[in-house]
Amino acid sequence: MKLASRIERLRIESAFDVLVRARALEAQGRNIVHLEIGEPDFPTPPHIVEAAKKALDDGYTHYGPTQGLPELREAIAAHVSESRGIEAKASQVCVVPGGKPIIFFPMMALLEPGDEVVFPDPGFPIYESMIRFLECVPVPLDPKDPRITDRAKMVILNSPENPTGEVLGRAALERIAEQVRGRDCMVLSDEIYSRIYYGEAPGSIASLPGMQEKTIILDGFSKTYAMTGWRIGFGVMPEWLVDAVNKLMVNSNSCTATFTQRAAIAALTGPQDCVVEMVAEFRKRRDAFCAALDTVPGWKCPMPGGAFYAWPDVTGTGKSSKELADLLLNEAGVACLNGASFGARGEGRIRFSYANSLGNLMEAVERIRGFMEGWG
Ligand code: PLP
Repeated sequence: MKLASRIERLRIESAFDVLVRARALEAQGRNIVHLEIGEPDFPTPPHIVEAAKKALDDGYTHYGPTQGLPELREAIAAHVSESRGIEAKASQVCVVPGGKPIIFFPMMALLEPGDEVVFPDPGFPIYESMIRFLECVPVPLDPKDPRITDRAKMVILNSPENPTGEVLGRAALERIAEQVRGRDCMVLSDEIYSRIYYGEAPGSIASLPGMQEKTIILDGFSKTYAMTGWRIGFGVMPEWLVDAVNKLMVNSNSCTATFTQRAAIAALTGPQDCVVEMVAEFRKRRDAFCAALDTVPGWKCPMPGGAFYAWPDVTGTGKSSKELADLLLNEAGVACLNGASFGARGEGRIRFSYANSLGNLMEAVERIRGFMEGWG
């Protein structure tokens, strides 16, 4: 039996692919420094884990409301209202298993084949995968000169950004908002890294005048509270879109696990020093790792403003980013991602996640330097 043609239009995330290859090398006795996967290396804070255990003891082991527990939706609405300076209501919040469904569901609900979708290139590979899956037309966004085409039905933004670590400035957000207002076009604003930044705080396009009703905010718990394995995230969107997202949820998942939702309430309403400490640690690693990479011959590494990724320019090595990423894994024992796997405009770059110990990060730089010297 042949697979449906739509499956061919789906892409994968190369991080999971490289992880498998790195593990295979480890199984042969090789030592690998893992800088490929985009997840905090810290444990989930203990008060969140305790809240989940208590929820299990209290019987949160059954189905819950498709849209999410009302008490969690209230906590999310309060948090998003305060952090974005908007008025978000619990009725506008959809709780889903991870941030990814807020890419999938609103796109499924809003787009028809042939619609143009403006998306970040380089960017999180799932955006382009979903655009192609839905038979839409991908239009790359230039963050320095953001132009929204007349036929665009959706603009996807991601700030701070994976893989570049860039934070979209207010001027860029305003230019995009100007072009979207009054048009039949929605913004999907992926703000999953909104609390991980080192300089200018990332703004949300939803807080610009008239933009809340044109924006779907995607956020979640995976990155902020080191909860990638819990599978919990949320969207905040105009009320008219909520029913469609609920329909897609009930058809695919029924609901998000209720004990993880109780843990998410503890995450949002409990002490926030865990987030502050994690970001401070990421900052130390960013400073040391990017500065060290910048001294490797042929490499240039800018300081990213947010998330936990380094995105060095490796055009000076004369190798394609795929060739170089493969060599670094196989010869130097450093697992990383080739920039072109984030879109055509990512060629000439490598993505490293610095969610690893400072010791391992410095070891990676020394391996890369040694490899470049030996090879050059
Ligand atoms: N959006 C971006 C930009 C990401 O980098 C990721 C995860 O890597 C996600 C969304 C998905 O997050 P989650 O693991 O909560 O589904």
